Amino acid sequence: MVLQMRQAGLYCPAGDFYIDPWRRVERALITHAHADHARWGHDHYLATPRTVAMLYHRLGEISAQSIAYDHTLTIGGAKVSFHPAGHLPGSAQIRVEVGGEVWVVSGDYKTEHDGAAEAFAPIKCHTFISECTFGLPAFHWQPQAQIFDEINTWWSDCAKDGIIPVLGAYSLGKAQRILAGLNSDIGPIFTHPAVEGTTEILRQSGLNFPTTRPVTKDVDKATLQNAIIIAPPSATASSWVKKLGPISTGFASGWMGIRGIRRRRAADRGFVISDHADWDGLNTAIAETGAETIYVTHGYTEIFAKWLSSQGYDARCLDTEFQGEEDAGEDST
Ligand SMILES: [Zn+2]
Ligand SMILES: [Zn+2]
Repeated sequence: MVLQMRQAGLYCPAGDFYIDPWRRVERALITHAHADHARWGHDHYLATPRTVAMLYHRLGEISAQSIAYDHTLTIGGAKVSFHPAGHLPGSAQIRVEVGGEVWVVSGDYKTEHDGAAEAFAPIKCHTFISECTFGLPAFHWQPQAQIFDEINTWWSDCAKDGIIPVLGAYSLGKAQRILAGLNSDIGPIFTHPAVEGTTEILRQSGLNFPTTRPVTKDVDKATLQNAIIIAPPSATASSWVKKLGPISTGFASGWMGIRGIRRRRAADRGFVISDHADWDGLNTAIAETGAETIYVTHGYTEIFAKWLSSQGYDARCLDTEFQGEEDAGEDST
């Protein structure tokens, strides 16, 4: 076995390392900086340069080494390389080769190119460990241009009515994707400090986003004329935002495609936009790996594994402690 499940997470015996472990380990290879994949407390981290920058921002003083995409590193008896996962800037699939056998761990991924994250690259392998957060046929994303039209129309309608739209989007990944799609001719873009922080780290890593300004104490109603505010979902319901005057709340997530969840979120508007692959995206990505064995994690694993088996794959569920950040509210700070 190139990789096996241990108590601390997915382990490679040949290289003596873990991938996205959930208990403290010596050497952790990290697919991306979302909290359920990149946990605190490991002795040593290995990740792409953008992910390493984000790990320093989120975890503070850690020992980390960066590895460029498509570069091969030998760790013990394993050859390791990182490849774009399209989930958020810096996110990676990790390829592990031992004695000619190749396994790929997808991490979280999205097949549609979003203009902010590096485009997803299919990697040939024998065994593919795939997330399936949205592994049901009901999940089918509309083209993102259409969703951005909806968001920009909502913004300009609010501006006309003197209302401030406050859009809930996770501070790492979703927020920057939204920024890249906003029409800044409508008005100024303001951010919650958590969103400003992660965006600034990504700017320093060489990415361009429209000008933003954090909502600080000196920001008043006049300053916010025609503005939109991007904030972590949990912050859209807090008193912080209600003080700003009449607002309209929105939430941007794949889960907005499910009516019950939209109601629970109590947002005025739901925009169905996800940083995970939809049903077609998952099936295409899996077929393109050429893998015969598929392990599935995150979300609708049993249903999705059954579907893959019916399509002729050797498919199994993998029990992990990833939460699927879209529902976990990891950015509640
Ligand atoms: Zn993620
Ligand atoms: Zn995840």
